[in-house]
Amino acid sequence: MKRKVDATVALRRHRGGMTLREYSWRTGELDAPRTLTLEVGQDFPDRCVRHGRKAVEYRDSELRLHQGARGQVETSWWSSFVWGLARYRMTPSTTVQVSGRWPMCRTCVRYRRILEFIAYCLGLAGPVALAVLFMAAQAGVVRSVTLSMVFAFFPGWIPGALAVALTLYARGNRPARVRPLTSATAMTVRAHPDFAAALER
Ligand SMILES: [Zn+2]
Repeated sequence: MKRKVDATVALRRHRGGMTLREYSWRTGELDAPRTLTLEVGQDFPDRCVRHGRKAVEYRDSELRLHQGARGQVETSWWSSFVWGLARYRMTPSTTVQVSGRWPMCRTCVRYRRILEFIAYCLGLAGPVALAVLFMAAQAGVVRSVTLSMVFAFFPGWIPGALAVALTLYARGNRPARVRPLTSATAMTVRAHPDFAAALER
C-alpha cells in the first residue's frame, strides 16, 4: 500500500440555501454560534481519496469542524471528548461545516458496509445480552448476577463498546482524513498518491 500524501482541495462559500443556524445568526433572532458553511469548490477526479481507485458511487458528506489548537479540527466523539476535558464543557460548537460529494470506490463502499454492520452489532449487543439475561433469570437458569456480568455492561458496553461502534460508524462514512483547517478557500486531506495526482491534472 502506498503512503498517503497531502492533497489540497479548493473550498468556497456554500451557495445553497441558508441553514437555519445561518439564518438565525444573520437575523440575530437567536443566540446561535457563528458557523461558516463551505463546500468543495472543485470537481473531484473519478477516483476515491483513500485508495485512488475508480469511483463507483458518489456520497454526500458534511464535515463538521470546531476550533482546535492548530486550526479547525474535525468533530468526532474523540475530539469532542478531548475538547471537553480542557474546557469543562460537554461539546464544542461547530464553527465550520464543509459539504461535498465525494467519490467512493468499490473497496470504500464495501468497507463502509462492513464497519456499519459491526457498529450495529456492537450497539445491539448490550440490549440483546440484557434480554437474554432476563429470560435466563425468568427460566431459573441464572440465579444471581455476577460481578463480571456487571463489568461487561459497565464499562464494557457503556461506554467501551459504544465508543468503538461510534468510531467505526464515523470512519466508514468519512471520505478522508482532514488536516486542521486554517483557511476558508482550501482544505488539506490525506489522500492516496493516485488521487492527489489526478486532482492536480
Ligand atoms: Zn476507495
